[in-house]
Amino acid sequence: MAIKNIYCVGRNYMQHAKELKNTVPTSPFLFAKPTHALVEGQGQTISMPQDQGDVHYEVEFVVHIGKRYEPGTRAEELIDKIAIGIDFTLREVQDELKKKGLPWLLAKGFPNSAVVSQWLPFEGLEAAASFDFTLEMNGVEMQRGNIKEMIFDIPTILDFSAKHFGLDEGDIIFTGTPAGVGKTAKGDHLVLRWKEEKVGELFIGD
Ligand code: ZN
Repeated sequence: MAIKNIYCVGRNYMQHAKELKNTVPTSPFLFAKPTHALVEGQGQTISMPQDQGDVHYEVEFVVHIGKRYEPGTRAEELIDKIAIGIDFTLREVQDELKKKGLPWLLAKGFPNSAVVSQWLPFEGLEAAASFDFTLEMNGVEMQRGNIKEMIFDIPTILDFSAKHFGLDEGDIIFTGTPAGVGKTAKGDHLVLRWKEEKVGELFIGD
C-alpha cells in the first residue's frame, strides 16, 4: 500500500535541540514532507540538491501506521512496521526560513529528502527501546539514538498527529533526530543500522 502522509517531529531530543541552539519545546512540533520526498535506501546513488548550501543528515526512528487511529488505541496496535530513516535538510535554507518565520518546506521537502531503510517488524515500544539506531558515514558512526531519549514519546506523537492532522493506514512518522547531525557531500556513503545490523544504505549523488 502506498505511503499517504509523511509527518516529521522536530526537536525531539534534548542534545539535538541544543546543538542547533533551539529552545526545547513544551509541546510536540511537527512538519510534513511531500510523498515525492520518499525513497528507500537500497545501496543506490541518490541525488541531492548541491546548489543550495549544506545538506545535513538527520537519522530518525520511523513508524508506519497500519490502521486508522481511534482514541485510546495503543501504539502496538497502530504501528505495523518501522524503519530507520534520514530526514535530509538544507540547513542554510532552513536557517534563512527560520529567520523570516517562513514554513520549512523548501528546506525539508525536496525530492529524496525522506530516506527509509527496508521496513522492519515492530516488536513493541519496550522492545524497541532496548536497541539503538545509528547512522554511519564513510565507515564512521555519526549519530546514535534510542527512542527512550525522546522528549515526546511515541504515544504522545501518535495522539498529537491524530488530533491535529489525522492518522490512518499508510501514514509514516519520522520521530526526530538525536545529536550529531552534520553535512554530506557528493560521494558520501551512508549506512543505517538497527540493532547494529545494516538495514539501509545509499550514496550521495548530485
Ligand atoms: Zn528531523
